Amino acid sequence: MTTLFISDLHLEAGRPEIGAQFVSFLKAEARDANWLYILGDLFESWVGDDDPNPHYAVMKDAIRGLVDSGVPVSFMHGNRDFMIGRQFAEETGVTLLDDPLRIELYGQRVLLSHGDALCTDDVQYQQVRRMTRDPEWQSMMRAKPLHERLAFAAEARAASEAHYQSASEEIMDVNAQAVRDVIEKYDVDILLHGHTHRPAVHDVNDVPGMSAKRIVLGDWYEQGSVVRWDDGGPRLEELPR
Ligand code: MN
Repeated sequence: MTTLFISDLHLEAGRPEIGAQFVSFLKAEARDANWLYILGDLFESWVGDDDPNPHYAVMKDAIRGLVDSGVPVSFMHGNRDFMIGRQFAEETGVTLLDDPLRIELYGQRVLLSHGDALCTDDVQYQQVRRMTRDPEWQSMMRAKPLHERLAFAAEARAASEAHYQSASEEIMDVNAQAVRDVIEKYDVDILLHGHTHRPAVHDVNDVPGMSAKRIVLGDWYEQGSVVRWDDGGPRLEELPR
């Protein structure tokens, strides 16, 4: 049996080909998995579980179909869909996970994370992150009418795009010390995350006594990206579209 990990699909109505590939994945390969973990940024934007966007409804139904077939699905928030809440979890049947989350898998100690918290060189983003993950800020936001939240999200997205176009490549990647710190703190063999859209398997062995791996999932803009993990270990692979 295989445990599957995906992240950074950035589903939105304007990119129906990603949604179509995701639905096919849920209806085919994922049915034979023993668990599906979605490590954040499943959606390009999420302003609240009450958003009646029909594209989201199709995606939620497809996730529900997988859960109803007997495959557990767990979801961790990304920096785009951190407003996903209990109603979404009830509608789809997914379990919401804390970030980071330590699990044991086939005898290995694994830390799961979206990955944005590791990008500590991006000081401006980390300030936004602290604000938007604050439960009080989220309650204040949820109390606003849907149209106001959608307008806010569009502005935030434009600001974020402008920020990432001006920020350097290094600032947008994970910080090496932040990576070593979480590996040490949680005492894991493998750190698995997404967010940076730089799919790769890295050795983290640059300090004495540390011999870990960092696996980075890719985004789904041009093709899918998946980690398939069975008793042979983890494999980072592309899903051709
Ligand atoms: Mn992200």
